[in-house]
This record gives sequence, C-alpha cells and structure tokens, in this order.
Amino acid sequence: MKRTLAFFTLLVLLTGHASAQRVAITLDDGPMLERTPLMSPRERNDAIVRHLTSRGVQAMFFVTVNRGADRPEGRQPLGALSQAGQLVANHTVTHPDFNDPSTRLEDFEAEVDTCDAVIRDYAGYRRFLRFPYLREGAQDTKRDAIRAFLRERGYRIGYVSIDDSDWLIDEELVAAAKSNPSLELAPWRSLYLDHLWRHAQAYDSLARSIYGREVPQVLLLHHRLLNALFLGDVIDMFRARGWSVISPEEAFSDGAYKVAPRIPRLDGSVLETTAQALGVSLAPLREMGSERQVGEAAAALRRSSQQP
Ligand SMILES: [Zn+2]
Repeated sequence: MKRTLAFFTLLVLLTGHASAQRVAITLDDGPMLERTPLMSPRERNDAIVRHLTSRGVQAMFFVTVNRGADRPEGRQPLGALSQAGQLVANHTVTHPDFNDPSTRLEDFEAEVDTCDAVIRDYAGYRRFLRFPYLREGAQDTKRDAIRAFLRERGYRIGYVSIDDSDWLIDEELVAAAKSNPSLELAPWRSLYLDHLWRHAQAYDSLARSIYGREVPQVLLLHHRLLNALFLGDVIDMFRARGWSVISPEEAFSDGAYKVAPRIPRLDGSVLETTAQALGVSLAPLREMGSERQVGEAAAALRRSSQQP
C-alpha cells in the first residue's frame, strides 16, 4: 500500500512536471488554394478551422499572399479563419529568401507592406513577420536595416522554436493519395505524430539546456492537406501527453522570443540560433532525426501504400 502510494506520488510529480510544458501552433504559407486529392481548398481550410475551434485553440496563420490571398477566392478562407477567432500575420507576398544576396532590401520591405495591406483589416490581424525559410539576414547591414524597418512599423518577428518539416510528409501524402484515392490514413497519422513528438521533445530539452527552465514552444506547421487531416490529432496528442496548448501571443511574450539584439541572425529555430550564439551544445537535437530521414520514411510509406 505504502509502496503504491509512493509510486502514485512519483507519478503525480512526473506528470505535474510534464504538464508545465506549453506549445503554441502556427501555420505558414496559407491560405493555399492548390488542388489536392481528398479535399477541396475550401474543405481543407474549413477542416483546419474545425480542428482548432472544436478544441478551443487559437493559432497564428502566417499568410503568403501569392498562395491565394491575392485572389477573390483566397479572401474567403482568410475571412473564415479570422472570423473563427484565429490570428493572421505576415509571411510576405512571394516567399523570398532574405539571406539570398539577390533579394534586395527595398523589395523585401515592399513585400512586407503589400502583405500587411492584404491582412490588416481582418480582426485576427497581428503585427508579426515570419521570415520565409526562417532566414533573417545574410550580412549585418541588411539585417540591421530590416530590423530597423520592422521596429518602425511596430512589427515583431514571428519566431519558430520547433522546426519540423511537416511539409515533407505532406508532399508524400499528397502523391500517395493521388495514386491511391482509397489510401489508408492511419499509418500517415502515426508517422506524422511520432515525427512531431520527437521534435517537440528535442527542442524542449534544448530550451532547458539554454535557459534552465521550460520555454513555451512555437510549433511550425503549414496550411496543407496534412494538417486539414490531422491537426486535431496533433493537439490531442500534446494534451494527452501533459502539454498545454497556448495562444501564440502568450508564447511570444516569453523572453526566449525577444532575443533579436542578442543573436546575430536567425536561421531556422530561434532556440537553435540562440544556442549557437551562446555556445550551448546542440546535442539534444540529434535525437529527433534529420530532414532526410523523415523524407525517406514518408517516401517509403508512399511506396508501400500504392495500389497493387
Ligand atoms: Zn513559409
């Protein structure tokens, strides 16, 4: 009896510890109007909204204007997201790589302003910019100039902490569903959830080694079929494992997302960049597997799910 009680206490302590973990959800590159199997663009957006609202979760959508928001049919999904209480923020017009020397500062600034004009009248509008490819500046002058420009506009950087390449799985899933319309979805869900969970744990452990405490995580997902199918399962998984799902604004209010003057420049996860700047080991990230590995696992699943 005593031993059972001790075990129970230990369990409560462990779960109590785990429940301190928090994650916020962000979805990039939408609203995407590309045609895919299984769902129409509108069905995909409606499904994403349903996954979030039915679970009381607020996400931030980083809009890339030329994926659809510049067309009349792209205003509908944007309006539906905002009306459902979701947040919309800036991810430029054409998704240029700011680090590329051929991307001129003035052109990039114009992209930020044009995207802002498209999204600013929605109730869910928030002044956050997410750099395409999570790249913030190839050299110091250009980086300082864009930081000054954003400050002047009242913009903050929409950092990512969990950088996970969900789009690689999405690409294989779309290809698999094209060749097999009665595709069995369960193995794709398992592959995806397992992939995200390993990444979340790796970045949680990196955050603790940088800050010596839990840091609210910001998960990078995309406005794609994969999340139209499984975003609800993603939220349920985090909750079942003791994490709470918080709003992106709450996550961004943490000091781990106010690092701009102290880190040289962003390239990928803000935690990874911060660790590099401080000389903290990136060893915790080795556990999660590489982009190549997840691509291979998803490709293998596609091959095995082809109709005989
Ligand atoms: Zn993007």
